[in-house]
Amino acid sequence: MNILRVALDVPLPCLFDYNGGKTRVVAGQRVLVPFGARQVIGIVVECLDTTEVPSARLKSILQAYDNEAAIPASTSKLVRFCADYYQYPFGQALLSALPSRLREARPAQAPTKTVYKLTEQGQALDVKQLPKNAAVRKKLITALQQTEHLDAATMQQVAKTWRNAIKLLMENGLVTAHEVESGALTGSPAAANELPLNPSQQAALQAILENGRVFQGFLLHGITGSGKTEVYMQLLRSVLQQPRAQALVLVPEINLTPQLEARFRARFPQLPMVMLHSKMNESERLHGWLAAQSGEARIVIGTRLSVFTPLPHLALIVVDEEHDASYKQQDGMRYSARDVAVMRGKMANVPVLLGSATPALETWYNAQSGRYRLLEIHQRAVAGAELPRISCLDVRGLPVDQAFSPHVIAALRARMQRGEQSLLFLNRRGYSPVLLCSQCNWVVPCKRCSSRLVVHKRDRLLRCHHCGHEQRFPQACPECGNIELKPIGQGTQRLEEVLAQQLPEARILRVDSDSMRRKHAVAEMSQQVHAGEVDILVGTQMLAKGHDFPNLTLVVVVDADSALFSPDFRAAERLFAQLMQVAGRAGRAGKAGEVVIQTAFPDHLLFHALQSHDYPAFAQTLLEERKLAHFPPYCFEALLRAEATSWEQVQAFMRDAAASAAAIPHPLTVYDPVRPRMERLKGLERAQLLVQAGTRQALQKFLQVWVAALRTLPQAAKVRWSVDVDPLEY
Ligand code: ADP
Ligand code: ZN
Ligand code: ZN
Repeated sequence: MNILRVALDVPLPCLFDYNGGKTRVVAGQRVLVPFGARQVIGIVVECLDTTEVPSARLKSILQAYDNEAAIPASTSKLVRFCADYYQYPFGQALLSALPSRLREARPAQAPTKTVYKLTEQGQALDVKQLPKNAAVRKKLITALQQTEHLDAATMQQVAKTWRNAIKLLMENGLVTAHEVESGALTGSPAAANELPLNPSQQAALQAILENGRVFQGFLLHGITGSGKTEVYMQLLRSVLQQPRAQALVLVPEINLTPQLEARFRARFPQLPMVMLHSKMNESERLHGWLAAQSGEARIVIGTRLSVFTPLPHLALIVVDEEHDASYKQQDGMRYSARDVAVMRGKMANVPVLLGSATPALETWYNAQSGRYRLLEIHQRAVAGAELPRISCLDVRGLPVDQAFSPHVIAALRARMQRGEQSLLFLNRRGYSPVLLCSQCNWVVPCKRCSSRLVVHKRDRLLRCHHCGHEQRFPQACPECGNIELKPIGQGTQRLEEVLAQQLPEARILRVDSDSMRRKHAVAEMSQQVHAGEVDILVGTQMLAKGHDFPNLTLVVVVDADSALFSPDFRAAERLFAQLMQVAGRAGRAGKAGEVVIQTAFPDHLLFHALQSHDYPAFAQTLLEERKLAHFPPYCFEALLRAEATSWEQVQAFMRDAAASAAAIPHPLTVYDPVRPRMERLKGLERAQLLVQAGTRQALQKFLQVWVAALRTLPQAAKVRWSVDVDPLEY
């Protein structure tokens, strides 16, 4: 018999047997099968001769697609490992690793892409004939005149706001769009030259190359601007000299991918490269994925989901900003793409390079213990680019509702006079975090979460930053009838307002997820800053990462104190990384940078470490604390979370979960169920239960038995529950 064992996207930890009939199907191929009343897409995992399913109940597949394996065995093996490790049904994990187009019941289409080409009229055009204000159109025409055609990615590199311009050019009959196969070579307007490496960069590159083509984890620890990206690129160049070799480069945040993409494309104009991230549309995703899977793409740059992309000739994995929390998937299979990358490197026997200025403590620990090889760059790469001077400004004397010390205003003014730019960093969007009754101290709560509503003054709304709930300002306090409700505390909108009052001549730009919601907003912002059209940026962590603004010489951290005393044991590690990253925005191109931190705790150890730019010393202190407290990386954790509209159900589930843990013999610490800080979220009551183990193996052994038991609990179908292995949020 032709029995096909198939993985399906259903929440059950098993595979399903079907009769393949006369159809020749291979493992890894997509098939359409009946499941209950539905027809669903599955992946064939094994082809067998027999099955235990009685023939009366054995159903036949309806169709097989693509005539070949969509999923190679290596990907299937990696996903299997992750599904086991993260306690998630294999079928769901496997199907969700595919672009959504491949989860649809139709053949995968040969990838094509849109390219733009000049018409005869366009070729003959002298760009001087275009209107004065058509700078982008001029650039595009000039670039197109140098080559056959250009694709979207290359256009993006020529001018970030190319889409509108190209539309105009098409309307004017100067440019036409064509669909071509994705493999079609695309011209690149310029190839950037390699920089000669400095000795530290050279040593890092050398160490990785000398290790050869086998698995080894490397941590490249280099301060911001130390030239890590240059090392990645030269490493890629060297590795990709092998014919057909492919490299996977993981990046944390989609806002940054265009910049990195531009650098890589400029460096490797002849190598087919694809991007993979969630902001792409479905057909772009499919196209990129297929190009990777077929071996055509030599470089894949992507966010966490791309770690599962099939790459038949994988030769190197790079994880940039490896400490970034966005590598951790927060629903479905809660994997860490960084950890999966290391596992993948091990399975494929290729080197894995993790890079960061402020590595995750887990990674630092691995580098210290010798599991990873530590490579360090201590100075900035550009000659003369010194590290910024960091100082603390004691704000204890400052009136509570005054956002800035007078020193800050003076410093901002001085930069403006010198024609330099400043950045005010505050990781809190909105106008103010609470609306408070001045009589009885009542604050407006969210109805669906245990949180307070944030004042959004411009929209005249109160908004919950956890569930999105919005409402108008209340007329009066419902507790005491007082009509005087005051916004208390600072958000970016308020900073912008205060600043405009105090420095009326300043050109201020706010950069947070509210102001940057429009497509291309980030690219436009970046262009404005580069063009010198902005004096002061007011921004959240959105600005902290990656952007390289050469004329920015002052960074003010408005308020970071709340994070100093957070109950989350990772808060200090995160704050340090974040401030280090923001500080890295100052003085990147030969101009001295300065960072001023407003704080009521200027003697805090974290600030001292920051001032001396001493990540290793700070990491050492944190590691010692973690060791004493027996926290990760000195233990291994899993967190069971449950939520439901009824608290009784959540409670009952947790009680049974705790009881079933107690019934398993184990050497672990199983804590009592507790309510998380956010007791209610989106109208659901929540509880969680933490498990700690001395070794990964002990934790895995326990979870295997426990999670199977959890699935059979009476409340298991009534509450929403999940297991988070190596959790980052509590
Ligand atoms: P990182 O990734 O560590 O933040 P980058 O690779 O972005 O650092 O480098 C920061 C700046 O230094 C960039 O402008 C880059 O072009 C420049 N740079 C990197 N390596 C060198 C080098 N060897 N010589 C001169 N400039 C360099
Ligand atoms: Zn009141
Ligand atoms: Zn809410």
